[in-house]
Amino acid sequence: SIELDRAHLVHPVASWRGHEQSGVRLLKSAKGATVTDAEGRQLLDGFAGLWCVNAGYGHESVIEAATRQLRELPYATGYFGLGSEPAAHLAARLADRAPGELNHVYFTLGGSDAVDSTVRFVRYYWHARGMPQKDQFISVQQGYHGSSTVGAGLTALPAFHAGFNLPLDWQHKISSHYAYRNPVGPDPEAIIAASVAELRAKVENLGGAERVAAFYVEPIQGSGGVLVPPKGWIGALREVCRELDILFIADEVITGFGRTGPLFACEDEGIVPDMMTTAKGLTSGYVPMGAVFLSDHVYETIADGAGAAAVGHGYTYSAHPVSAAVGLAVLDLYENGLLENGRKAGARLLAGLQSLSDHPLVGDVRGRGMLAAIELVTDKERKTALPVSASPATRVFDRAWQNGLIVRAFAQGVIGYAPPLCCTEAEIDAIVERTRTVLDLTLD
Ligand code: PMP
Repeated sequence: SIELDRAHLVHPVASWRGHEQSGVRLLKSAKGATVTDAEGRQLLDGFAGLWCVNAGYGHESVIEAATRQLRELPYATGYFGLGSEPAAHLAARLADRAPGELNHVYFTLGGSDAVDSTVRFVRYYWHARGMPQKDQFISVQQGYHGSSTVGAGLTALPAFHAGFNLPLDWQHKISSHYAYRNPVGPDPEAIIAASVAELRAKVENLGGAERVAAFYVEPIQGSGGVLVPPKGWIGALREVCRELDILFIADEVITGFGRTGPLFACEDEGIVPDMMTTAKGLTSGYVPMGAVFLSDHVYETIADGAGAAAVGHGYTYSAHPVSAAVGLAVLDLYENGLLENGRKAGARLLAGLQSLSDHPLVGDVRGRGMLAAIELVTDKERKTALPVSASPATRVFDRAWQNGLIVRAFAQGVIGYAPPLCCTEAEIDAIVERTRTVLDLTLD
């Protein structure tokens, strides 16, 4: 099969010849936090697929729910006012568990189209309120919001812009100020003040709040390299948006569904966004699904007043009944011990990775819950990056693989961790120990 894969299947990045991390490996099976490759090698999945298999692999209850739904009703369009029981039940349970007034759920296929949908909803909302001139969008440097043209434009990672004239002319960025190499320094209050000032200045620059439609932010930046803002940072920006009447959108595609401890990271920060995007852990990767949460006031405004503007958006597989059935089964798991286990395992993971801080290559260890990262440096004082994909000697991903561990190796010298929440203490310890081996090898 590997020959068939090489001949016919396109893998973003890995298929592009000359890319340092090129090379394809086929996976054969998985159970819990362990995957087995085509050659029978067992690996601990320290990245839960692509930060999505939060519940872990192979839960019988999920498999049964999907199978039952496939037999009973494999498809019902979410369009034209049709629907299905599992989709209605999942929407209701999610609304019940979501922060504050986020009581309305729009299902998508994944995270990128969830973000795209919020952009539509934002525009419908301002049309409905008679303020169509509010059409400028702001997001944060190092942020990631999807691979569609609109989502890639909100994203602030250059690799997603090259060749496409992105960002679009209505998409703007502010600095994060809490990145590992931020000039403001480590003081949380200084970081928060700098970000608040920059957001206000950006809004002024764009012609004032009457031009700015929405602000997008990840509670913890994932694809930018697992960057954790100080507590209170996101809340301060939320307040600025409330004051200036700018919609505040939390992108919880990675942080949602127990990844950082609570069901949603916003809970830890005590904030309620106007809209929230989720995907990944929603169905734990078993089947594709994303969800946009709309607050009562956003939903009611659009439903009442968007008129002709609010048509022409939807997906064939929105609210897919099999995905919804899986979502319900996965939610049962989160509520029956998995969140709890994830919180304990996450604390153990962070403590374990922190125990590697003395290693000469480790510049920073950071994380919250089951989302963590090590930043590799060649000079701790100067924070000089060790690019993990630059040379064979630093091929962290390959070396981890050879040692039975899957991690994400980011080009800027970051090793990312997002293990399934079901990990046992022994599995967490093994992730840490295998990382130590990889770091020692990388020194050679
Ligand atoms: N937003 C964030 C914060 C993400 O991390 C991702 C995916 N990594 C997306 C959106 C896009 O999700 P998807 O890949 O499911 O389209």
